[in-house]
Amino acid sequence: MNDAHEGGCLCGSVRYRVSGEPARSQACHCSYCQTRTGSAFAIVVAFQEEQIAWSGPELTVYEHRSDESGRWIRNHFCSRCGTTVMLSIERDPKLRIIAGGTFEDPGWFGIDRHIWTRSAQHWMHIPDGVAKFEKAYVP
Ligand SMILES: [Zn+2]
Ligand SMILES: [Zn+2]
Repeated sequence: MNDAHEGGCLCGSVRYRVSGEPARSQACHCSYCQTRTGSAFAIVVAFQEEQIAWSGPELTVYEHRSDESGRWIRNHFCSRCGTTVMLSIERDPKLRIIAGGTFEDPGWFGIDRHIWTRSAQHWMHIPDGVAKFEKAYVP
């Protein structure tokens, strides 16, 4: 089985290749992810730093401070096309959280759980049998 998966930004400048399984893969319904993506939820797939090889220009960073925890969350995006390819968090700063939709095959991983469901859109239906957390999941 090939355990490497590739992806990148919309314009193709920034590319990555991950090896192995994600530490966790989640659908995040927090209001921050809703605003930054302009969507109902974000797909956040976390890897250790050493699992990812990058190519292309350095990603640009935007730092946001959580109004809930007071800790930083950083959006790492392509300065040419604006795609947020990766996120990092103060709680676990070595973790590289790939924006799941940027994989060439975004269906290769499953979703372990849904988080921040307290701010999920009212029309969002989360299937039975999938773990749900009102707020953050802290492993
Ligand atoms: Zn780009
Ligand atoms: Zn979120």
